[in-house]
Amino acid sequence: MTQDPEFDRAMERVTAWLRAEKQLLIGGAWVPAVSGERVAAVNPADGSTLAHVARGGEADIDAAVAAARAAFDGGPWRRATPRDRQRLISRFAALVDEHYHELAILESLDLGVAYARSFGKRNRTVSHLDFYAAVAGGRNAGTRVEASTMPGRFGVVVEQPVGVVGAITPWNSPVMSALWKIGPVLATGCTMVLKPAEEAPLVALRLGELLVEAGLPDGVVNIVNGRGSIAGAALAAHPGVNKVAFTGSTDTAKSIITATTHNFARLSLELGGKSPNIVFADADLAAAAKGAIAAGFTNSGQICTAGTRLFVQHDVYDDFLAELRQQASRLTVGPGLEPGVDVGPLVSRRQQERVQGFLARAAAQGAEAVVGGGEVDPRLQSGCFIMPTVLGSITDDMEVYSEEVFGPVVVARPFADTDQVISMANDSRYGLAGGIWSRDIDTVNRVSFEVDAGIFWVNGYGLMDPAFPFGGTKHSGYGREGGLVQLEDYLTTKTIVHGTDL
Ligand code: NAD
Repeated sequence: MTQDPEFDRAMERVTAWLRAEKQLLIGGAWVPAVSGERVAAVNPADGSTLAHVARGGEADIDAAVAAARAAFDGGPWRRATPRDRQRLISRFAALVDEHYHELAILESLDLGVAYARSFGKRNRTVSHLDFYAAVAGGRNAGTRVEASTMPGRFGVVVEQPVGVVGAITPWNSPVMSALWKIGPVLATGCTMVLKPAEEAPLVALRLGELLVEAGLPDGVVNIVNGRGSIAGAALAAHPGVNKVAFTGSTDTAKSIITATTHNFARLSLELGGKSPNIVFADADLAAAAKGAIAAGFTNSGQICTAGTRLFVQHDVYDDFLAELRQQASRLTVGPGLEPGVDVGPLVSRRQQERVQGFLARAAAQGAEAVVGGGEVDPRLQSGCFIMPTVLGSITDDMEVYSEEVFGPVVVARPFADTDQVISMANDSRYGLAGGIWSRDIDTVNRVSFEVDAGIFWVNGYGLMDPAFPFGGTKHSGYGREGGLVQLEDYLTTKTIVHGTDL
């Protein structure tokens, strides 16, 4: 029992829900995998099994794509008006809001994230669905275009849904990863097969139930959990898929690009990052330190936009690290559902070992923990914990300086001036996000224009909004999530021409 009766009631519902079968959503029905295979969903805070989840393979992907194809090519969804779609999203948004405690608990259990963060995203999450509902109502209206060379001739340019979307998502933000794909699918009139990450498969299933409760027509959204190399690969290459919306690592994206050479599916890729967070000497250093802690350690650093390359102007480098040390020492590391926890475990033992490998190799190359680091509390040994760490004595050739770690590990380097820090920031294959802390408007303007990034924060880090497009450049991918521009990826343009020149 906690102080919050709503939390307690939600916890009881989640406990009961976890005991029920976890199947695949195909054509409006919950079904087992054709192979009968199931896989354990594991709580990374203590290694316990949360539930067993049906593990789909190629045959299940085939069935799900066929269901999505049928729903797209005929049936009620094809005839749904923008208003029908808008109302469906609104009903879904209301259910997501109503059941948010459960979703946040599930996210905490399955991913490990601190409950304060998972529940703290409630309003923002629902506002995304509100945004998709709002834009759904106005989509697909045609535009009359006068011919430029033939008097009296015109065309009607319409936007039509691109078709069946294969959506493949990562584990690090199960609620939003799924909604960033479901929202535009419903808003534009596409249909989809969603393949969530195996490390955190539960939230998508609960979202599927809420969609069905909201009145989702059969086959419009299908959900198939399964291995990336099998179910994910089958979905990306499937001849019935018109678009692949992928969020995940840059390496997996390469397989997906290759897979889509078979089906010519349109692609959007939201990939990894190694984002620069730049602190100038004239900044509000206490605020910048708070921002750097949030940028590096929220969600245990498992955020694609994490500010993991911290550049601090050398005049204030030592003072800034002292301030960071102070603030980092106040972070509570522990199981996500424990009250007061700031930093939960990593998602899995595999991810923990991966991050430990990065730390060991960084130490061997001469990097030193200048903030945090150290051993985790022995009481947390059964979980997948890593202490928040900032590494100093970094050199260009270090792996930890250039590769995405995806854990609570930040590298810090001093810089001399604006020219140098822009060049350091852009010396990366990634270009997802970044941030600057400075009170000087000229510095802010120059740095925010010249750093390669899809999103860049000024005197803050990580602020998102449904209306703000978000995505990457370079090896961080292409396409955007959020904002009106995202919908263009789910629409195809058709010109209907009136008249003849014969
Ligand atoms: P991942 O690439 O290992 O897996 C992502 C998804 O792809 C999973 O569903 C996985 O099962 C599937 N997959 C794996 N191999 C596949 C294959 N051969 N064919 C098709 N699908 C396959 O990534 P992850 O470890 O789950 O997530 C972490 C990565 O995601 C990080 O690099 C992070 O930066 C990135 N990410 C990016 C964003 C963004 O918006 N830019 C958001 C969140 C996470």
